[in-house]
Amino acid sequence: MDERQLRVDLAAAFRCFAKLGMHEAVANHFSAAVSPDGRKFLMNPKWVHFSRIRASDLLLLDADDGEELAGRKDIDATAWAIHGQIHRRAPHIRVAMHLHPVHATAIACLKDPEIKPIEQNTARYFNRLAFDNEFGGMADTAAEGARLVATLGDKSRLMMGNHGVMVTSSSIGEAFDDMYTLERACQILSIAYATGQPLKVLSPEVAEKTARDWEGIVDFSIAHFEEMKRVLDKEDAIDPGGRGTVPAPGPSSTRPPRGGDQRDPPAFA
Ligand SMILES: [Zn+2]
Repeated sequence: MDERQLRVDLAAAFRCFAKLGMHEAVANHFSAAVSPDGRKFLMNPKWVHFSRIRASDLLLLDADDGEELAGRKDIDATAWAIHGQIHRRAPHIRVAMHLHPVHATAIACLKDPEIKPIEQNTARYFNRLAFDNEFGGMADTAAEGARLVATLGDKSRLMMGNHGVMVTSSSIGEAFDDMYTLERACQILSIAYATGQPLKVLSPEVAEKTARDWEGIVDFSIAHFEEMKRVLDKEDAIDPGGRGTVPAPGPSSTRPPRGGDQRDPPAFA
């Protein structure tokens, strides 16, 4: 996928999560690798609301750049610490999304942060989560980012204790659907816990089969994301405020003023 399409899709993912209420003020961050070796990647600029991020706003960074990048005023130091290390140390990860969605974060803050398999959404994560229990304040150093990558290990999702969650994937669509389902699974589990009644946990065999079934329908995840992009387009066609065009990425690109020329859909560009 070329850089332009990655920009459009990543911007769409930000806007989808804003609509779903899964963003955290102007914090949280996603990245998508652009180069074949995974070291050049796109990331959202510091403290721009997810609902306003456009394709042309995304920063093109190099994981080999040093810690001095953390001092750039358009880069969130925490985002650089985490995503810079992911793309430097784990080239197989093409997309990484970090959020603090309410329900997933609530489960991550329990003494037992496992997502018990009690139905289809929760079972997607059976034996498929890594857990970080070393929260020590906001991660803003390369060492902290490196530690998180090591903790993730061979898993693709990280429950970050006392903090939030991280989802990694090979495409933006898969990562989007995975994050969506992770939050929904934790919402279901939270409500089940809140009843105070004992959980009826699925057998390991059924949970494992369900998790594998999920892994066999990657096209479902892609379809979900593509449909959500169409929903965004439709909604923004009704209320097109704040849209702009998609300048070609690169050093020579110029950014039109927000709310300027609206000829060039999609809205999240
Ligand atoms: Zn965070």
